[in-house]
Amino acid sequence: MRRIAIVGAGIGGLTAAIALTRRDAECVVVEQRPALGDEGTGIQISPNAAAELLDLGVRLDFAVPVAQRELRRWQDDRVLGRTDLGRYDVPYLTMPRGALIGALREAAGGSRIVLGRRCVAVRDDRTSAVLGFDDGTAGRFDAVIGADGLRSVVRGLTCSATPAHSGLAAGRAVLPRAAAGRFVDTDRVVVWLGPGRHCVTYPISHDHVNLVVVAPSARFDGWHPSVRGLIALAGRMRPRPLYDMPPLPVWHHGRVVLLGDAAHPILPFIAQGAAQAIEDAVTLADRLDFAGFQASRQERVRQVFAMSRAGLRVHHLPDGPEQRIRDRALAAARPDAHDWLYGHRIAAASRRRSDDTSSTRDARPSF
Ligand SMILES: Cc1cc2nc3c(=O)[nH]c(=O)nc-3n(C[C@H](O)[C@H](O)[C@H](O)COP(=O)(O)OP(=O)(O)OC[C@H]3O[C@@H](n4cnc5c(N)ncnc54)[C@H](O)[C@@H]3O)c2cc1C
Repeated sequence: MRRIAIVGAGIGGLTAAIALTRRDAECVVVEQRPALGDEGTGIQISPNAAAELLDLGVRLDFAVPVAQRELRRWQDDRVLGRTDLGRYDVPYLTMPRGALIGALREAAGGSRIVLGRRCVAVRDDRTSAVLGFDDGTAGRFDAVIGADGLRSVVRGLTCSATPAHSGLAAGRAVLPRAAAGRFVDTDRVVVWLGPGRHCVTYPISHDHVNLVVVAPSARFDGWHPSVRGLIALAGRMRPRPLYDMPPLPVWHHGRVVLLGDAAHPILPFIAQGAAQAIEDAVTLADRLDFAGFQASRQERVRQVFAMSRAGLRVHHLPDGPEQRIRDRALAAARPDAHDWLYGHRIAAASRRRSDDTSSTRDARPSF
């Protein structure tokens, strides 16, 4: 049995633990935080990721299925475009982040999770991967998965790249659904697009909605009263700077591999960072050869990254000719425009890949 260390008990790390344990690996997950499940605010888990979690047996019965996303204009609340999120075989789910982490942890019951221990060093000495921790201890493993997010320590072994600040920050709040309902339909994802900023709401439970504002500052002067009403309801939000980094050219080194934000932090413009971490984790467990894993994920992650980066400009256009072209395109968007993203399934992609390469593929793990 292989002994694998996973650095980081976020969405990517815990999903990897669940998927690998099902493949008979012995996983230990090392997390710097002293406790899990206290992550505030909400998260959207699109059908491409929800399908993988449900396949792994993760219990998501607390999540809210959402059938529609509306893009609205900042000033007059006019609906610019609608996306039918209910057209997939698995629902588009929204939920409290803490509840998702709790469900992943429960499903990862077969793995050991060590809390309150920070990884400070990693090396590959050719016979094993070695992790050093902040308490002075070290551990040897057959492989290490760096699922340690935006500020990954493990990434240092593969490259010296660092994420770049986008110039924007995200403020987040959880609001009582009844109060938010005075300003917005709380049964759907609503995104208001405006010059230099945008605002998102979606339900996360029977009683609560999530609010996210993405802007260089907290000022929404002149925006529709619904947006200003929601922001007032939220009170003071602590803005968190947003970073991204083009997907790394190489995600692995010897017995060490990266996934999720450690390999490709993505701006939250299309709500796909966690979804891609989940897809990474399932793909990695599917084929434990790291070069093959990278090859099968790189193109898709590049597409998602490019779409999120495009959002940085397109979501925030000032009023003018370009904005009008965008709005016409949103109104005319085809119902299947997101099928490549939300309809993607790892098992089907794997099957396609193995049909393509069945004659040449070397099935041995690379570590
Ligand atoms: C405002 C905002 C909204 C978003 N909304 C969505 C959304 O709706 N849907 C979606 O799919 N994505 C969304 N994302 C993106 C998503 O949050 C991330 O992409 C996702 O959390 C990445 O998961 P991860 O497991 O790779 O990393 P993380 O979630 O960052 O987890 C990394 C874990 O590693 C731990 N760690 C870090 N360093 C060490 C160390 N040295 N030693 C031990 N442990 C360590 C951390 O404490 C953490 O628990 C959003 C992001 C933002 C900023």
